[in-house]
Amino acid sequence: MTTNAWGEAVGLLLEHDEIALACHVNPDGDALGSMLAMGIALRGLGKRVVASWGSEPFEVPTAYAGLPGLDLLVPAREFPAAPALLVTFDTGSADRLGSLADRVDVAQHVLVVDHHISNTRFGSVNLIDRDAAATAVVVVELLDLMSVELTAEIAAPVYTGLVTDTGSFKYAATTPSVHALAARLLETGIRHDVISRQIWDTTSFGYVKLLGLVCARAVLETDQVGGLGLVWTAIGVEDLDRYSLGLADVEGVIDVVRAAREAEVAVVVKTDPEDGLLKVSTRSKGQIDVGAVCVSLGGGGHRFAAGFTSDASLPDTMARLRAALAAAPHLAD
Ligand code: 5GP
Ligand code: MN
Repeated sequence: MTTNAWGEAVGLLLEHDEIALACHVNPDGDALGSMLAMGIALRGLGKRVVASWGSEPFEVPTAYAGLPGLDLLVPAREFPAAPALLVTFDTGSADRLGSLADRVDVAQHVLVVDHHISNTRFGSVNLIDRDAAATAVVVVELLDLMSVELTAEIAAPVYTGLVTDTGSFKYAATTPSVHALAARLLETGIRHDVISRQIWDTTSFGYVKLLGLVCARAVLETDQVGGLGLVWTAIGVEDLDRYSLGLADVEGVIDVVRAAREAEVAVVVKTDPEDGLLKVSTRSKGQIDVGAVCVSLGGGGHRFAAGFTSDASLPDTMARLRAALAAAPHLAD
């Protein structure tokens, strides 16, 4: 990333009075948090800001329902048809904008703010820090350059992005500077305990039941991934319906399944009730680059946490995935 890109990004943000923000479909804590943090900051600078994402249902996942800045959100159908400045967050490729992807072609300027190694650089200005633990980190670097004060209102969504993308400061991306940023955020007085409880430790009873069901049907295939082992399970529309859950509610299932020490790679295949497509989540423990595997299957993500979308059946999707995993090189520790 060039110094120039930072200067151009700051220039674009400061010189526009109307700014349209978008994040990837089915937003997670980092997508939503980084977008809201920037939205609140830009509004504080007197700009007119809208923020959205291009998937249904247009509902803020309950884990993030207490965040400030939700009043910036507009459903995709109310998103500007041809924004002068479109800023995207945590979005590795234009198609990840879903129904808002077409705005990339018509916006005068597209500023891409991201940390995905697989980012396709679809913006006119691309701020992609592949070493950043979260897109929210890149947002703070931008706000610092813009001399925006880090208020508690901005810090809460930033913390949400940071804590979700580092798995509560557990993943390898958790550097000393991540902790330094967390300290800065806590100094604003945010209720990090409330934010974390809402994200990690609050579910419906239905989720507890669904977890039991999908864990009971998990399959361990020790001979897969070149003998490193694969554990996987699937969540169908009927499972979600039975317990009145949406896709956003079952994001955490992969974190339970991947704990199985017998498998290097963990997979959860979820059927999207909106379009019937399979959303495949993959995780590895460090010996397989699932990011590269998912890119080869039309998706993206990070080295050890990635995903792809499939229009094939569950058996066919798993067969393609097994083949790609078998061909993936084993990384040295
Ligand atoms: P998750 O499994 O938590 O949904 O996603 C893990 C990572 O993979 C995230 O960084 C996410 O952006 C990326 N990812 C998940 N699904 C897809 C997909 O269908 N396409 C692309 N390009 N990336 C995905
Ligand atoms: Mn992210």
